[in-house]
Amino acid sequence: MADTPARPEPGNLSLEQKASLTSGADFWHLQDLPGAGIESAMVTDGPHGLRKQPAEADPIGIGTSLPATCFPPAVTLAASWDPDLVQRIGEALGREARAEQVSVLLGPGVNIKRSPLCGRNFEYFSEDPLLAGRIGAAFVRGVQSQGVGTSLKHFAANNQESDRFRVSAEVDERTLREIYLPAFEHIVKNAQPYTVMCAYNRINGTHASEHRRLLTEVLREEWGFEGLLVSDWGAVNDKVASHAAGLDVEMPPTGRDHLVVEAVQDGRLDEDLLDASVRRLLALLDATRDARSGRHPAPDLDAHHALAREAATCGAVLLKNDDDLLPLAEAAGQRIAVIGEFARTPRFQGGGSSHVIPTRTDDALTAITAAAGPGNVAFAPGFTLDGRPDQALVDEAVAAARDADIAVLLLGLPASAESEGYDREHIDLPADQLALLAAVHAANPATVVVLSNGSVVSVAEWHHHAQSLLEGWLLGQAGGSAVADILFGRAEPAGRLTETIPLFLADTPAHLHFPGGEQHVRYAEGLYVGYRHYDTTGQAVAYPFGHGLGYSTFALTALSVEPVGDNAFDVSAEVTNTGARPGSQVVQVYVHDTESSVDRPEHELKGFAKVSLEPGESRRVSIHLDERAFAYWSVLENRWKIEAGETEIRVGTSSRDLPLRHRAHLAGNPVAGELDAMSTVADWLDDPTGAQLLAPLLAQHTTADREITPQMRKVMAELPLNKLATFMSVPMGRLDDLVRARRELADNAAPTA
Ligand code: BGC
Repeated sequence: MADTPARPEPGNLSLEQKASLTSGADFWHLQDLPGAGIESAMVTDGPHGLRKQPAEADPIGIGTSLPATCFPPAVTLAASWDPDLVQRIGEALGREARAEQVSVLLGPGVNIKRSPLCGRNFEYFSEDPLLAGRIGAAFVRGVQSQGVGTSLKHFAANNQESDRFRVSAEVDERTLREIYLPAFEHIVKNAQPYTVMCAYNRINGTHASEHRRLLTEVLREEWGFEGLLVSDWGAVNDKVASHAAGLDVEMPPTGRDHLVVEAVQDGRLDEDLLDASVRRLLALLDATRDARSGRHPAPDLDAHHALAREAATCGAVLLKNDDDLLPLAEAAGQRIAVIGEFARTPRFQGGGSSHVIPTRTDDALTAITAAAGPGNVAFAPGFTLDGRPDQALVDEAVAAARDADIAVLLLGLPASAESEGYDREHIDLPADQLALLAAVHAANPATVVVLSNGSVVSVAEWHHHAQSLLEGWLLGQAGGSAVADILFGRAEPAGRLTETIPLFLADTPAHLHFPGGEQHVRYAEGLYVGYRHYDTTGQAVAYPFGHGLGYSTFALTALSVEPVGDNAFDVSAEVTNTGARPGSQVVQVYVHDTESSVDRPEHELKGFAKVSLEPGESRRVSIHLDERAFAYWSVLENRWKIEAGETEIRVGTSSRDLPLRHRAHLAGNPVAGELDAMSTVADWLDDPTGAQLLAPLLAQHTTADREITPQMRKVMAELPLNKLATFMSVPMGRLDDLVRARRELADNAAPTA
């Protein structure tokens, strides 16, 4: 029998070999060691389609990659609020990746949309971490179910493109824990991505690629991440510091592996860290071996195109639909003026590393013409993509609108307006398009506007010119057909906003602190990102988070909140389709803390469920709220803390429409903390043992004639015990006895491990 080669393991490799594995082999491959049985694995972007570059392509040449299905980008996928759909898309992406022998797809991107100006918002899911986490987990599960890995990116606090390689996100710990980390945390804990990609930026002064606390203590030790930690492309500055912080692989290679060897030799880098990195690389290779086997057939691209079309209808958000102008009747002989260059030159994805060469492209003009009948459609481009004012184009469009029953305008941002690599400076649609809209609306008020944009645009100053307004985001390669499906009611627009549409840029919470300067950006708005800001301050918005109309109407009734343990609940409500068409609704559950010792947003999304119903059909939907739904990050105690007391559970269909409310009791999750002379009287009284010990002392030092009024009690509660003692002339020795007695009682009560 032939000898089977020894299974590769760190112990069989030289230091130099191990160091070589800390860098990729080239732009798109992890390092291999054929002699040691370590094979090569390809990684590619991602996330909403495969961007596999042919071997001879210049890696920076974003335009050169093999054709692949261009699904709707993250912005649109998330707007579906439908993890099952996103999982199916993940599966399709996995099939395309393994047919090309790609081991890891570089996504999803789950950074929070801190400002609508971030140039890469189209690649991210939401302004809300819970939603980003749930959608991201579904994506990871889908891709990885096909034996292909994912790369959860960009870890962490990478919320802008300006100065992205250097800028330091100055963000406080509570905000980091509650806003910028939870999507990563949820996905790591629930879907174990095979890899995580660290970001370019610094966080509070330290490069993400060197941030030991985040990379090792939080990601691995707290959350249990077991996979391979790779750098964003070019994110490593000090290679040794990165590996010391917990990074496994630097991408792409920079020819510095000898520094790793030297650092181990002179004791600056622990060789055990390299061994751990090698083990993780081997585990990744094992987990993805089947993807590289070459045994997977070409995927069914027609089916994937159909899935991209379905997803596009699920993520498009109908913002307004006065007098139910939509849907239009199919082949009803209505004359339709289709206006806008985007009707024949669709804009369906963003620019940068996620840019995919589609397998085919559907345009809305062809699809609308097919549905309405060729004789019923007149097309006018109306504007040029470079934004140059052109009166002849406007006149032509106005004439077409005047002769038609309905004008459908496809407006949006040109590709150059938003991309990886730079941020936007405003959130306005091009002025020539708005002038066109005003002129068309004056000629024919039956005007439908369909938008193509990857991040929020302001609508407040012109949406009265649209009788119906469909926020199409970026709809992927089948977007044109999806638009026709929606316009003619073959599918309903089933999306809901995952980001608030503000009235003005100046209303946005990060406005005064974006994108920062001198290599720093202060996250001064703290927790108050998106609707957390607007709903806490009562700021008017154009369309709230969670909003979206379908073609039917729904009633939400019979809220029930059942406690499951001390700090968890099963929330359910009855949803009824009260309209005449089948449709879907997204039931959203928010939590409002009625009283808290720290500031908290007005309410926060803690669960949701999407349900599809036939006309007249009802269904009870259930959403479980676990302990975490009620916790805030205590900076003082360095843990998720739930305060005992009342909480309000709010259920509805947007952050501004929460008609069902229920007050529930939380037991809290106190831990027997240390009490000392600097703990306040309130701290002592909140602790059963402390209260017991303090009572005699208070009684002894307050007499009937020195009665304590409620006001004095309030003041006293805030006093550290030693200050109270000073004011009441209690000898300090008594306090020492008290602290000692409390500690002894607490120690005796503590369970032995
Ligand atoms: C981007 C990543 C991408 C990588 C590889 C970087 O510039 O930030 O999202 O995966 O390039 O293309």
